[in-house]
Amino acid sequence: MDDKEKLISILKRINGRGYKAYLDLKGNYDFGLFSLTIKHVQRDPFASPSLLQVNVYNNSFPAELYENITRKIALEDYISRAFRKGVNNSPISRRGSGKSGILLIDCGNQEILQRSSVNISEDNLELRFQLGLPARGRRIMGNEAQKILIKILPEIVFASCFYENLPVEEVTTHVKSFEDAEYLRSQLEGEGLVAFIADGSILPRESGVSSKPLPGAVTFKSPTTLRVSLKTIQDEIVTGMGIPEGVNLIVGGGYHGKSTLLRAVELGVYNHIPRDGRELVITRADAVKIRAEDGRRVEKVDVKSFIHHPPGMGDTSRFSTENASGSTSQATNIIEALEAGSRLLLFDEDTSATNFMIRDERMQRLVSKDKEPITPFIDRVDELYQEQGVSSVLVMGGSGDYFQKADTVIMMDHYQPYNVTLEARKVADEMPLNRRRESRGKFTYKERYPHPESIKPDKGKRLKLDSKGVNQLVIGPEFVDLSQVEQLVESSQTRAIGYALYQFSKSREDSLKRKSNICEVLDYLETKMNQEGLDFLAPPGRSQPHNLSRPRRYEIAAAMNRLRTLRVDS
Ligand code: ADP
Ligand code: MG
Repeated sequence: MDDKEKLISILKRINGRGYKAYLDLKGNYDFGLFSLTIKHVQRDPFASPSLLQVNVYNNSFPAELYENITRKIALEDYISRAFRKGVNNSPISRRGSGKSGILLIDCGNQEILQRSSVNISEDNLELRFQLGLPARGRRIMGNEAQKILIKILPEIVFASCFYENLPVEEVTTHVKSFEDAEYLRSQLEGEGLVAFIADGSILPRESGVSSKPLPGAVTFKSPTTLRVSLKTIQDEIVTGMGIPEGVNLIVGGGYHGKSTLLRAVELGVYNHIPRDGRELVITRADAVKIRAEDGRRVEKVDVKSFIHHPPGMGDTSRFSTENASGSTSQATNIIEALEAGSRLLLFDEDTSATNFMIRDERMQRLVSKDKEPITPFIDRVDELYQEQGVSSVLVMGGSGDYFQKADTVIMMDHYQPYNVTLEARKVADEMPLNRRRESRGKFTYKERYPHPESIKPDKGKRLKLDSKGVNQLVIGPEFVDLSQVEQLVESSQTRAIGYALYQFSKSREDSLKRKSNICEVLDYLETKMNQEGLDFLAPPGRSQPHNLSRPRRYEIAAAMNRLRTLRVDS
């Protein structure tokens, strides 16, 4: 009896029995060209679907498509999407209760990310996915399961896991496009740029809930004075707008496309799939969107460069609160981004606290400085660049106060950018501001040293670590609200962040110094992910996780900083 027959005979035997009998399926089955492993069986039809794995014995993909880590990430991402397409095209039925017949692979939307769901090597192609084992009520539907496992699944595997069955050009484009984006990003620093938006890009999205390109959108065209040419890996020239290091303002009338441009820059830290419209919108990897986030928790953050002696509060060099205001949360978000290693801050007036961004002449006269605890960002923005090398891109349509400080001013007009730096300078010269600079002392902040044991994923009976959508992380009894962390794009990233915090909470002296600052903790986690892949993140009992995608260090830090149990030394 071969393995397929063995599987069929088990399914016949347990057909109609209680759901628990599905546990008999656990094991490894040889299907000829690949093996199927049923790793974990869900407890009932409503629980998270069962964990399955396919290993294709002879990897048919040409080695050049995965010969370096960049190409490997892109190819694995492609295969996960091909598998999902196979699922969507399959005659799989969702008859039955709960999650019966659901076939899921983690594959993302518009962004190409490193994922745990597909792993390719010279002699093996491994796919990890989930299947809702079918049941009527809680009774096993053996025939249904047989149809899926014996007939449909092999068809999906054939269609998605064999090079010769895939549209070869599409595979190559996916990999090359990703590689080009990485290559362009690697040139930004040398060119003195923080971001590049290629001519012809499509920035707006279909809707607030769809990240697909807006049909019929005005395509991006760079102004000649900000136009730069970069080379792709194939030595082809691409032109587009370069946003230089320094202080950059984006101005323009309401509804002319300012926020759309900034949003594209925010997500330009990721590489996008072909035909997204933002494949060649490339931002330096360390860009962090800064916004106001009232209500968030803050743990001993040194915000004294922005906030001094607010009422009822002493020292702001160890500022803590369970409920930050708009301005204090925005100041905190800046310090935390710098602490995590960012040297590029992005702001949109739509999501900023006005009193944090500006304080004009009239207000300075009416409310004296000793009654105003806030040093507005305008009095730090140039210092941050000159003294600390921190660039900013600010969308600011409602105030001209920043003209004096800006190195570059870009105006959006009917969705097209214009370089209005000289005009803005002229305005600033003709209408000089009499506002006083309000910073006290130089910009500085103290490092913080997080306590690993203050992250408590296994408080209570058992380990609790998961994501609820993109925006919520569950760690033990705690829920971390990440809805205002705008550069997080997938719930699999959120889950991976939870796992990363778990690893930090269990880190011992041998792997990480007892006392490490936040930057060192993030360096450690990133180095491990680079060396060992995302599987490094898995807690015991959850080895070879199925649905993790690579988070950035800034979002790992963001989650740690919002965790209500976090304790730090400073
Ligand atoms: P602003 O921030 O300047 O007020 P937004 O960026 O919010 O403007 O854009 C306003 C509207 O215009 C949005 O609905 C957006 O989708 C749309 N939009 C932005 N850029 C383009 C474009 N290039 N082509 C077509 N529509 C666009
Ligand atoms: Mg806007």
